[in-house]
Amino acid sequence: MLIRLPELPYAKDALEPYISVKTLEFHHGKHHAGYVEKLNDLLKSTPLVGEPLENIIKKTAKDASRSAIFNNAAQVWNHLFYWQCMKKNGGGIPSGEIANKLKADFDGYDKFAEEFKKASLGQFGSGWVWLVVKDGRLAVMKTSNADTPIAHGLKTLLTIDVWEHAYYLDYQNKRGDYIDNYVRNLINWDFVNSLI
Ligand code: MN
Repeated sequence: MLIRLPELPYAKDALEPYISVKTLEFHHGKHHAGYVEKLNDLLKSTPLVGEPLENIIKKTAKDASRSAIFNNAAQVWNHLFYWQCMKKNGGGIPSGEIANKLKADFDGYDKFAEEFKKASLGQFGSGWVWLVVKDGRLAVMKTSNADTPIAHGLKTLLTIDVWEHAYYLDYQNKRGDYIDNYVRNLINWDFVNSLI
């Protein structure tokens, strides 16, 4: 049984003008697809073939001899999650249960947005920034390269991909503009609320 690459949960132009069709074509159709292809190749003839993706990640997370499998499996999972975290006309101040949680754990949306943007800008090199549930509270977390909170037993609610391939075609070196637009115009708070 192979790990599959699902279609994006929206049309390729749905995130314009903040994330272009061209970026999604490369990011989903080449980068994400590439991780899926590489993972399936690496899993062949291992006992992990046919296991759910999250199990593969957890079983290889602390095993240096299987870091290639971990890296590709984690990148497949991270991207699947990232696509769901965005939608057309998203972003801005949320409603629903996440609004209450942000107020309780960050003193509100503004403080959360500030911390999330600061972490995203501050992640050196490739990686991801997350909103996770840690010890029963919301927290912002940075991970490097392919690393993922689910390898650390944490529940994820939101992520932004800060690898250059996520924004370079649209923003070149201006990672901060990509992050601002993600927070202001793209976050799918309905998805976040569905996870709480
Ligand atoms: Mn990516």
